[in-house]
Amino acid sequence: MFNKILVANRGEIACRVIQACRELKIKTATIYSEADRESLHVALADEAVCVGPAPNKDSYLNVANIISAAVITEAQAIHPGYGNLSENPDFAEACEACNITFIGPPADVIAQMGDKAKARRIMREAGVPVVPGSANGVTDLTAARQIADQLGYPVMIKASAGGGGRGIRVIHNAEQMREAFEQAQAEANSSFGDGEVYLEKYLEEPRHVEVQILADNHGNIVHLGERECSIQYRHQKLLEESPSAVVSGSVRRRLGEAAVKAAEAVGYRNAGTVEFLLDERRRFYFIEMNTRIQVEHPVTEMLTGVDIVREQIQIAAGEPLSCEQGQIWFNGHALECRILAADPDRGFAPSPGTISRWQTPVGPGVRIDSGVTTDSVVPSHYDPMIAKVICWDQTRQKTIARMEGALQSLVVEGIRTNIPYHLRILGNAYFRQGDIDTHFLERRMGLSEGG
Ligand code: ADP
Repeated sequence: MFNKILVANRGEIACRVIQACRELKIKTATIYSEADRESLHVALADEAVCVGPAPNKDSYLNVANIISAAVITEAQAIHPGYGNLSENPDFAEACEACNITFIGPPADVIAQMGDKAKARRIMREAGVPVVPGSANGVTDLTAARQIADQLGYPVMIKASAGGGGRGIRVIHNAEQMREAFEQAQAEANSSFGDGEVYLEKYLEEPRHVEVQILADNHGNIVHLGERECSIQYRHQKLLEESPSAVVSGSVRRRLGEAAVKAAEAVGYRNAGTVEFLLDERRRFYFIEMNTRIQVEHPVTEMLTGVDIVREQIQIAAGEPLSCEQGQIWFNGHALECRILAADPDRGFAPSPGTISRWQTPVGPGVRIDSGVTTDSVVPSHYDPMIAKVICWDQTRQKTIARMEGALQSLVVEGIRTNIPYHLRILGNAYFRQGDIDTHFLERRMGLSEGG
């Protein structure tokens, strides 16, 4: 096992990884930007190294400084968390080149799955159902039009190198194609440095259902069931749960088998998530694979009792998985609400500032994964998610009630948050019946498409 790990991230996920290291008796070093000197993850780690000024590109994306931090602190491994450098194959490679273990899959697997058009091709060839769409990246308008005609409108354009819900466009008819195609290419270029786009059939009322998998270096792969992540704001998840209200035991088994097949097809290692869209007839289609720990991993942990971050570290250290598929149980129901320093009344505009009071709920089945506390400063430079509230209970209904109680007890003063907005979602009759799809916030909560 490692003696020391560098936690190369910030916020709640850095704190989460530090906790897992503590349990494993591994020392921790972490990194921080000039804006994060006083932040919680710095206080929790055994040591911390400043890697640059506030802007992400100068600090949390600064590969040379982060590798240097690992060398200086004599860390044997780096946990990248999510976002930032977690899905950057060059970073994974740089770690290996410096004899530092990257806690995640091999660089070539990250690269393959990071190219979403390529990932679709690999999955289709492996027999995993994918959303109907272009066989490859599409480079010219004529080809895009032809493919869209074959698929039938509406279609979706996505950036091959995309992520985080950016660079996605819906096209309803042939007239919209030219402008949308050119815009999508330009946006892909400016956001991801790669203008390649691809087309998919646009599913009208899908649910987003994803499967957590774990794979070790000894040929073992397990799945930990599904997470329903249909409550999304501009294609970004806001509230997640497990199990999905519409996934039966047999659909779960088939989803799990497809996810394991996907992992096998690319020689996957470590924790990963295979994302699918589920249609109203419970047919599912691969959309992408995320090659890192995900924000919403705690719902799976609450349901299965498997500590996914601990597994990640053990796998990276060469240990076998701690469980076999037959030993994994799915117990009760779990919900996660992402707490954002953002104002839902103003299109989720970020609300940075100092948290003058932070008081968390207590009680059974309530878990808070947080990167802040009283007097924490929420800088304007980073993602506005400051914490997650995760609740577990025996049934969906009871878990909703527990979450309502927890959110009512969570006090955050000094900044605006989306806590009242979550309470509105939880109180919505359609939500309570499990009648949701990816358009829930627009259709049932009156959110306009543009925010
Ligand atoms: P990203 O990598 O940016 O997160 P994804 O491909 O995972 O992009 O898609 C994000 C979200 O966009 C999905 O959860 C879903 O809500 C919506 N979406 C993606 N593909 C389709 C599709 N073909 N039809 C309908 N909605 C889609």
